[in-house]
Amino acid sequence: MKEIILLKLGEVVLKGLNRRSFEETLLKNIRRRLDGLGSFEVHERQSTIYVTPRDEDADLFTAQERLSKVFGIASLTRACEVGKKMETILDAAAEYLRGPLSAVKTFKVESKRSDKQFPLNSPQICKEAGGYLLSKFPNLRVDVNHPDYTVRIEVRDAAAYVHGNAERGAGGIPVGTGGKAAILISGGIDSPVAAWMMARRGVELTAVHFASPPYTSERAEQKVRDLLTKVGAYAGRMTMFTVPFAKVQEQIMANCPEELFTVIMRRLMMRCAEKIARNEGCGALITGESLGQVASQTLEAIVCTDAAANMPVFRPLIGMDKREIVEISSRIDTYELSIQPYEDCCTVFTPKHPRTKPALKYVEKAEEALDCAALVDECVANVKKTPITPLG
Ligand code: ATP
Ligand code: MG
Repeated sequence: MKEIILLKLGEVVLKGLNRRSFEETLLKNIRRRLDGLGSFEVHERQSTIYVTPRDEDADLFTAQERLSKVFGIASLTRACEVGKKMETILDAAAEYLRGPLSAVKTFKVESKRSDKQFPLNSPQICKEAGGYLLSKFPNLRVDVNHPDYTVRIEVRDAAAYVHGNAERGAGGIPVGTGGKAAILISGGIDSPVAAWMMARRGVELTAVHFASPPYTSERAEQKVRDLLTKVGAYAGRMTMFTVPFAKVQEQIMANCPEELFTVIMRRLMMRCAEKIARNEGCGALITGESLGQVASQTLEAIVCTDAAANMPVFRPLIGMDKREIVEISSRIDTYELSIQPYEDCCTVFTPKHPRTKPALKYVEKAEEALDCAALVDECVANVKKTPITPLG
């Protein structure tokens, strides 16, 4: 019995004239995620993508798992591909879906016929298949309104397909169709979630991480790489830029008022990130800030941070509660890593009483004690590049 994976397109189908390029990007992303799992043939037809193994060794199980994280796919299911004869289809349905059909009490059959040459129409296919399965599985009853299980039969141009309930896909739009942006990534809970949210809207990511050795450890940096690897299962490959930030922090500490330390540090982060982002062809920055979460995320503090950047800063978590953010981070499997207790550069020099409502003009005045342009140039000149490949 030949088994394949069927993928139904998500919002891609709505994109009118851009549709072709959306689909091409999606197919490219799919093929890339199947790398290393054996040989597959991937093609699109009538808003469905067919992923067909070319040989016995192709790992369908892992393929489905990886594809469940590819943005642009609304749903996915394994299906049995058979010749377009009703008897063959009926046999295949009973055989292929034996497991689930033996385990439930009620079912219904849904069918779609795009090959109008096929002798039975959709209601006739449902009726015939329903009767056949009832005769084969005495445990079953038909319930068209709330069935435990739905058998789906699709008669298409090339073949017929039999499958059961489809799994929900990752949704969103294909990564690479929404431009490129730089995510400021720490080892915390929020920024990996922010990265995931923007990738879901089609944005290709570049990652910027500020590390402060010797105050922060190699292990803390490894944690960030591990987080990005998890995010990469959704967002695809990316490059991580690690910025050595200790000198900047020491300079701020030595020359600026303590209560403005955090906001000035964040402004320098923005400037460094923007420079890297421009070099990498990114059009925006992304942070994991959420309004009011901590002293540096009050409206006034964000106004000051924002003023240091000359490109749009996306903050997809701005209106979310911590609980909602944690829910997403558990779902995308970054939570357990994020809560591992390694120091972040932001936690190394924290003032006891940060100014929660800094005024931009005082912050700018305090910054005059620093040679910001030179500090930023030095950071960017010493940046370390690491390729991130998705996990699995
Ligand atoms: P997170 O959970 O993402 O660490 P947070 O709640 O700890 O966020 P802050 O420490 O104020 O909040 O950081 C706010 C945002 O600034 C982060 O979401 C991230 O985008 C960026 N940021 C913080 N620290 C770093 C870092 N070391 N490297 C890169 N970006 C950082
Ligand atoms: Mg943090």
